[in-house]
Amino acid sequence: MKKSLIIGSGLGGLATALRLVNKGYKVTILEKHSTPGGRMNVIEMDGFRFDMGPSFMSMTYEFDELFNSVGIKNPVEFEELEPLYQVFFEGKEKPRRIFKDLLKLQDEFADVEPNLAIKVDKYLKRAGEFWHDTEDKVVKSNFDSVLSYLLSLSSVPWKHIPYLYRTMWSEVEKKFESEEVRIVFSLVAFFLGATPFQTPAIYSLLNYTEMRHNGYWRIKCGMYRLIEELVKILKSKGVEFYFNTEVKSVGYSNDKLTEVVDLSGKKWKADIFISNADAASFRGEILGRKKFSEEKLDKMHWTLAPFTIYLGVKGKIKNIEHHNYFLGSNFRGYADTIFTSSISPKKPYYYVNVLSKSDITCAPEGCENLFILCPAPDLRFKKDWSDKDELANNIINNLSARTGFDIQANTLVKKILTPNDWADTLNLYKGSGLGLAHDINQVGAFRPKNKDEYYNNLYYVGASTIPGTGLPMVVISSRLVTERIFNDHSIS
Ligand SMILES: Cc1cc2nc3c(=O)[nH]c(=O)nc-3n(C[C@H](O)[C@H](O)[C@H](O)COP(=O)(O)OP(=O)(O)OC[C@H]3O[C@@H](n4cnc5c(N)ncnc54)[C@H](O)[C@@H]3O)c2cc1C
Repeated sequence: MKKSLIIGSGLGGLATALRLVNKGYKVTILEKHSTPGGRMNVIEMDGFRFDMGPSFMSMTYEFDELFNSVGIKNPVEFEELEPLYQVFFEGKEKPRRIFKDLLKLQDEFADVEPNLAIKVDKYLKRAGEFWHDTEDKVVKSNFDSVLSYLLSLSSVPWKHIPYLYRTMWSEVEKKFESEEVRIVFSLVAFFLGATPFQTPAIYSLLNYTEMRHNGYWRIKCGMYRLIEELVKILKSKGVEFYFNTEVKSVGYSNDKLTEVVDLSGKKWKADIFISNADAASFRGEILGRKKFSEEKLDKMHWTLAPFTIYLGVKGKIKNIEHHNYFLGSNFRGYADTIFTSSISPKKPYYYVNVLSKSDITCAPEGCENLFILCPAPDLRFKKDWSDKDELANNIINNLSARTGFDIQANTLVKKILTPNDWADTLNLYKGSGLGLAHDINQVGAFRPKNKDEYYNNLYYVGASTIPGTGLPMVVISSRLVTERIFNDHSIS
């Protein structure tokens, strides 16, 4: 039986383990953290349960595919979000609710954007064409060389070329008149960890996936349920987990990796190794590759770092829903400076998720649990987070004022994670929450590959390799890497 060893138990590592164990591989997982899930983790405090990172997903069919591919029915239940989210603009008393239903959306913006339904329909049709023309050829394919990638790209209809040269912002500027509508349609760029002023217009395909293709979904009883179910299935199939076990170095013979060595010096041998740790920084920090030295990595384009707050609050907050964005004034100025600033924003923009609106088991009766995410500069730009309480208080006071509920006075439990914490806990490079950005020169064959350049039995899975970041992409990544493994190494 072939022995495989997976470094990291994020969704990418777990999904890969499921596909491997199903084909008869022996699977062992080493995880640095004390619990599985990576960024898709859980935080529990005094009767409150918080999803640590992801709070919603799209492309739920990828999760069905994962389980169906091993002959299991998807054990988690998805609940669709409608409205998808609401956006609080500064100075406006009422939030704008963003509906998938275009007639409802049109009503919501009737005072600022006439005929919105027709305009959005046209915009989504165009984005949808791009998505369907690239989904299989680019997103869901392994590439053996830059040439094969470019050949595949050249078969995408040429009418999409202008998308490559425009930014998301210029795309929405062309399509919509109202600043508020433009901002709403460009917010998806932040899901890629960047701003709409740097993100290519091709990513308007995310508007298509959220508003038409599949929508947004949460998992019943919280996102962590998916990790719990996966771990349960993997353990029942004999997969072994070792937590608090950080891989620090490797041993090799010629072009084969023979072992990885953990922090305590213990050596772990296997036939095949799969790193779910960041693909670029693993090559730099653990394999010592010059191409991925700190100097070179720092020059790459990384996504925003998360500054997150977890609050257990006494009482019910009326006018917020599952997903809420709180924006300030001067969208462009804020977006242009926030990621490269060395100081905390005085008037931060932030996202609030209230799981207790849909899941009563995640907070004591009569209470609310709030997850607040503020996109922040990564550790290349802002190393010192000793001002974390000040930034958290700014956000909490702003949220109290905008919801009319005194959150500060009713807080029962509170935890803050700075980019330093995200970096230290999960080895995220310089605290970048979504990893390498998705610029044209950092996707496809230009992204760190899922097969190592030197060792023929070392592979990579997860957000930092192909196709990219976000939960469904990570599941696709597990499919792509296992396709390679099954092709390269027969099971006997
Ligand atoms: C705050 C936040 C919010 C997000 N929200 C969403 C969302 O709403 N929807 C969505 O689709 N996506 C969201 N994402 C993105 C999503 O969480 C990630 O794309 C996905 O979880 C990445 O999974 P992964 O398996 O690639 O990596 P990870 O989850 O990072 O897992 C990697 C694992 O490897 C371990 N590891 C690293 N180095 C070592 C080592 N040397 N030895 C042993 N173990 C090691 C880490 O501890 C970690 O457990 C969010 C991310 C963040 C940070």
